[in-house]
Amino acid sequence: MTVPLVETARFMTQERLLVKRMHLLRTLGLGAGFFCVAGVFYVNGANWLTWILLFANGFLWPHLALQIAMRAPSPRKAETRNLIIDASLGGMWIALMQFNLLPCALTAVMLSFDRLSLGGSKLLARTFGGMVLTCLVTVLVFGFQLKPETTMLEIAASLPLLIFYPLAIGRMHYHLVRTVNRQNRRLAQLNRIDGLTGLLNRSSWEDKALEILRRHQRLGLPAALLMIDIDHFKQINDEYGHLTGDEVIRAVAGIIRRCIRDVDVPGRYGGDEFGIVLVQTVPETAKIIAERIRLSVLAGEPDGIPVSMSTVSIGIATNDDGMNDARAWVKRADVALLEAKAHGRDRVAIAN
Ligand code: GH3
Ligand code: MG
Repeated sequence: MTVPLVETARFMTQERLLVKRMHLLRTLGLGAGFFCVAGVFYVNGANWLTWILLFANGFLWPHLALQIAMRAPSPRKAETRNLIIDASLGGMWIALMQFNLLPCALTAVMLSFDRLSLGGSKLLARTFGGMVLTCLVTVLVFGFQLKPETTMLEIAASLPLLIFYPLAIGRMHYHLVRTVNRQNRRLAQLNRIDGLTGLLNRSSWEDKALEILRRHQRLGLPAALLMIDIDHFKQINDEYGHLTGDEVIRAVAGIIRRCIRDVDVPGRYGGDEFGIVLVQTVPETAKIIAERIRLSVLAGEPDGIPVSMSTVSIGIATNDDGMNDARAWVKRADVALLEAKAHGRDRVAIAN
């Protein structure tokens, strides 16, 4: 199966965005982690090679990790590897800190909970495994040394990691939740809209029609429902092709939008059929609006879209206290529409 190039590019961009976000987090987390470990080394004493390694892990590795992930064929996979490396190095520092209680617990927790929130328990298990393994290897190489007491200086040196890293993670999650909410809202909107015309699709238009029906029944106000169908639309498809057919549907939707008020509710009922609910509208006014739509389609589009090759028939039904749902209202307008078709098309008919 081939993946479209555009999709692949978008995917890569999203992966790189994730890598960049992780770079910020890693820079902050390992930078603060440097002071946490350095506090213990300062108290216990450490050789120059250990200090250089710690400095490189705290301040150089985040930028190297970024370069590795950005250049990788799969930035996401490379980033996962980097997260495991972070945790494995953490295991080494835990052993070298001689299991000093607070800094070691902090290092283990910070290197676990962010991974848990990023990749679930699967990533947590892999990173925790790496951490334990390097911790054991370090103990085997340098011997087991235990000094669990934490001094005041070591507590103070741990504070940046304890305070700033969770705040940064919280901030990242806040942005993620906002992005997800925004995308959910967009998805919900897309589910309500007809892709070709941008009008409401059938089910959401029917929901709106029912809402308007109930409100008008409650207030005792008149409202009108128009069903509009393009005449001999099959012929347009057959003669000019489906793409031109689509253009005609889009053009009729545009005309409908221009002929009604903002408060009225148009929708694509399906195929070449449209529905409109005109709020607070008496039948006489509904007829005038329907005629305006019919004549606009007949006249054709000013911008050259070929609606002049077609006409529309329109059925009108006013609201009625006995109607229980929008379907009953649509049905009445449909009967009028069939009457308009039967009497020669390109005309408006009102249901009795
Ligand atoms: P009538 O005057 O009786 O309405 O005749 P008609 O030819 O318009 O008949 P009908 O309304 O049944 O035909 C609708 C046609 O619309 C059938 C279908 O192939 C076509 N159609 C439905 N949806 C689309 C679409 O999204 N794009 C295009 N191009 N054609 C569509
Ligand atoms: Mg038709």
